[in-house]
Amino acid sequence: MILDGLKEASLIEGHLRSSVTSLKKRGINPKLGIVLVGNSAASCLYVKKKQKKAEDLGISSTLVHLKKETDQLILADHIKKLNHRSDIHGILLQLPLPAHLNAFEALSHICPTKDLDGLTPYSVGLLSMGKPYFVPCTPQGCLHLIHLWKKNIAGLHATVIGRSMLVGKPIAQLLLQQNCTVTLAHSHTKDLQNTCHHSDILVVATGQKHLVKKDWVKKGACIIDVGINPLRQSVTGDVDFQDVKGKAGAISPVPGGVGPLTVIFLMSNLIKAAEHHA
Ligand code: NAD
Repeated sequence: MILDGLKEASLIEGHLRSSVTSLKKRGINPKLGIVLVGNSAASCLYVKKKQKKAEDLGISSTLVHLKKETDQLILADHIKKLNHRSDIHGILLQLPLPAHLNAFEALSHICPTKDLDGLTPYSVGLLSMGKPYFVPCTPQGCLHLIHLWKKNIAGLHATVIGRSMLVGKPIAQLLLQQNCTVTLAHSHTKDLQNTCHHSDILVVATGQKHLVKKDWVKKGACIIDVGINPLRQSVTGDVDFQDVKGKAGAISPVPGGVGPLTVIFLMSNLIKAAEHHA
């Protein structure tokens, strides 16, 4: 079973369109506030993609584009201004920030009711307490794909490789809430291959091209590949897709797996924020 993120994204997009229409009928125009610091080509591209997707769905957006040298206080001021604007329903701080800025400190200024990426200490705390409100978008996409494979995953052993705030830790929390038994592995984990080999679900988010091969995978397991590693003309994942696909029960490709769902769940979080605002 190939877990087709593009197909799923377009299905969810249909629902989001209807939500935007009904919000507008009630006089609410959902609007996204994006803060971008500096001119990193990758960040500028990601911001453009998010604005384009918002526009496609009838969601307006405003971009606060700050120069690379912006200091922590000025950045905090801009975030606070967006917090106070009643026409802005959700805020996105594009990461990574330039090296002199502290992302944790900056994220802490985002009002929890506008925290689209689910990265403020408040949102992270709710998720770890089993009471999630805004959940980071990529982990939502992973869980959506896993549920295409099996609705009820209670009692299954899930291994997540990678422990970042953005992907690894929140997906581990989501799987725990689904009553999986979760192993959260990382670069210091010993005998990782053996752990993976006993896992019914494997989520890989390391940024290590083709780390996972066929002999790491349990027959019939669900494999979610989050990694994005550049090739000359395209990208590839952390899982050796060609090697693994015959052994897995379900597998998400790169590109076309988790990626397209990330931006869709960002828009879904924005609509939730606009509904909350109402
Ligand atoms: P990160 O660099 O913050 O974290 C990587 C994690 O992988 C770390 O916890 C590290 O311990 C672990 N790791 C690295 N090498 C390992 C190894 N050999 N064995 C075991 N663990 C290892 O990265 P991130 O932000 O979590 O992103 C991970 C990957 O996912 C990247 O390729 C990134 O581009 C991609 N990504 C994709 C999306 C998407 O929408 N598809 C979104 C976010 C990130």
